[in-house]
Amino acid sequence: MMVAEHIEITGIVQGVGFRPFVYRMATNLGLCGRVWNNASNVSIDVFGPAQGLQTFAERLQTEAPPLARIDQIRRSNISAREHADSFSIAESPTNSPAVTAAQRTHVPPDATTCADCLQEFWDPKNRRFKHPFITCTNCGPRFSIIQDLPYDRPNTTMSMFAMCDACEREYTDPANRRYHAQPISCYDCGPTLSYRRFGGPRLRGQSAVELAVVSLELGQTVAVKGIGGFQLVCRADDHLAVAQLRDAKQRPDKPFAVMVADVEAARQFAFVGPAEEEELRSSAAPIVLLRAQQSGKQVASNVAPNNPLLGIMLANTPVHHLILSGACDALVVTSANHAGTPMVFTNAAAVELEPLANGVLENDRDIHVPCDDSVVRLVGDERLPIRRARGYAPVPLAMPAARRSVLAVGAELKNTFALVRPEVHLAWVSQHIGDMGNLETLEAFDSLVGHFENMYEVEPDILTADMHPGYLSTRWAERESTKRGIPLLKVQHHHAHVAAVMAEHQIDPQQEVLGFAFDGTGYGQDGSIWGGEILRGNTQSFERVASLRPVDLPGGDSAARSPFRCAAAHLHAAGLDWESSVGSRTASQNELQILAKQLERSLGCITSSSMGRLFDAVASLLDLHQVISFEAQAAISLEMLALSADDSADDVSPYTFELDSQGCVFDPAPVLGAILNDLAVGRAPSLIAAGFHQAVADVIARLADRHLSRPEQPVILSGGVFQNALLTSLCLKKLRSEGRTVFTHSLVPANDGGLALGQAYIAAHHPQ
Ligand code: ZN
Ligand code: ZN
Ligand code: FE
Repeated sequence: MMVAEHIEITGIVQGVGFRPFVYRMATNLGLCGRVWNNASNVSIDVFGPAQGLQTFAERLQTEAPPLARIDQIRRSNISAREHADSFSIAESPTNSPAVTAAQRTHVPPDATTCADCLQEFWDPKNRRFKHPFITCTNCGPRFSIIQDLPYDRPNTTMSMFAMCDACEREYTDPANRRYHAQPISCYDCGPTLSYRRFGGPRLRGQSAVELAVVSLELGQTVAVKGIGGFQLVCRADDHLAVAQLRDAKQRPDKPFAVMVADVEAARQFAFVGPAEEEELRSSAAPIVLLRAQQSGKQVASNVAPNNPLLGIMLANTPVHHLILSGACDALVVTSANHAGTPMVFTNAAAVELEPLANGVLENDRDIHVPCDDSVVRLVGDERLPIRRARGYAPVPLAMPAARRSVLAVGAELKNTFALVRPEVHLAWVSQHIGDMGNLETLEAFDSLVGHFENMYEVEPDILTADMHPGYLSTRWAERESTKRGIPLLKVQHHHAHVAAVMAEHQIDPQQEVLGFAFDGTGYGQDGSIWGGEILRGNTQSFERVASLRPVDLPGGDSAARSPFRCAAAHLHAAGLDWESSVGSRTASQNELQILAKQLERSLGCITSSSMGRLFDAVASLLDLHQVISFEAQAAISLEMLALSADDSADDVSPYTFELDSQGCVFDPAPVLGAILNDLAVGRAPSLIAAGFHQAVADVIARLADRHLSRPEQPVILSGGVFQNALLTSLCLKKLRSEGRTVFTHSLVPANDGGLALGQAYIAAHHPQ
């Protein structure tokens, strides 16, 4: 029996090769009709035998192109009278306002080189054998080369390259897998690769790669132009090369990520479970934090010093594949920047990389929007984003209940911003921009905001920022609010953390939740530093129902760089003898005396209820670090030590926080006292570290018990402390075993990189 149907597909279905996919499938099944892009979806009219149509509809879902995301398929019967005798891709009505608006919602993210392209890449008979810019409809640069929408070649940095006839034929043939692949190119057209040793001549083509590989083999650093910016690259097995790179970047300890060619290579260096493999292979190709192999292949010990985790990503451009096939099995890859400033992404600026690298492997395809590598970690099978950038940004998040258009400027560290457009029920979170402490980052932020507002045609009617008076992002928003004549809503830091999880999980903005917001530092409503907060409320208001007992932190936020100060502060506040346990480990007698005075008289101290600083304090007691060189270094070491504890250790914590009678303050004094005793009797530090993690999970469960208005009220975990996978998994397990409904992050980071989304959710429902 012949039937006819109209099918509407919503989701990420434009600019991802969906129409050619529909075309090829319909043609293969012998069906007739047409497919076209519509306002917010793809529409299909299809005619043929009932069985064929059924198969067609099923495969739409199961065989969709890798970059597509189908939210809904709606089918309806139509009259079969206007029967076509073939299947075609119909042009969209280009001047329809609805279509234009829809094209301004989805900018595809950059995608790693796909399997089909790799096969051609390694095939000597293929015309793109080892072509450094091989791409197709399913892979290659997108977000980083798009200058404006709709996503067509003239609106990308590929517009300066004229297609050759062969490429043009592929580009215009709906049956070809490069149909409308905007970055298409080959040896006869498109960008060229070149290598230049600083002070040397420029070499192009195959010899460019060969020279870069020789340089790497010699133990030198090469600046390589990746998809989202320049990277500094050296051999991962060469201790001296890594040490030089650390020197150049002024990065003494912070782990470097490693790039390998494929999952098999990754397995030689680290344990790769099924969930990890899926992340590694995903089109975003992020850095995945994996547990390093103790035997087998090793990277140099200074790649990730004293760290059982190794960040690994797979080669994500053809150029990376070329280098890896020549140089060695594993490369250290880190963004090319001078300490604290944004990543270099233009060829002009790459000249300034001379002090950091021996040469530059670059190309003449411009990067319009810089985008760092993304980082994820897994807790069991659940993903914990650490940095959301290349491959994820700027995929929008659904925000169905949004009422206003918003620009949320985020935090100070790990800054991102967010835009909300209520008519399309979407929010866009920018890629990781960086720490706002310098002019260059602020400029990058400013220009990226302009780019997003222009692309998505958002004219915010409200601005939102953190309450912290010293944040450069907040000051930017204050200036902008005056300039644009729109209101600025200042949002408390931890409220925004909680709201970010609500936004991710589309929890009703009016719904009351119990939020645990644990981090290093955030400006509190009382002007003190918060960071161990239990907030009950919704997006519009909250009550601080409990917090970690505040302490006077000598040196304020700078205490974050010296865990021994955190330990001294916490022991002092607990009435414990800090001088004998911490004093012996600090730098000098002089420093000790100053510290003693500060603590006695609360001089030069800032009051802080930060949970991050409590982790630092415990790390100091275990003598993991007394001074650190990168954020959260001590807390990370504490987690790693706890993870190394014997699995058979019982999961009842030997330590218990004290809760005051109203349950408003939880006090670590008994925990710290017991830890000092355990240290004195020689208990294994790994067991102490594990016990501390359990104690924090325990007190979260007790506080939930105490403060939930109803047993089924959602419990939310957010803030940088929950990047700790051990803590997060202990909390999830404990709370769920007690029947709680728990939500945490899986789309944006728990750290301040997720803050803009929370601010945006709050402002999108703000009444005035
Ligand atoms: Zn491809
Ligand atoms: Zn060509
Ligand atoms: Fe925070």
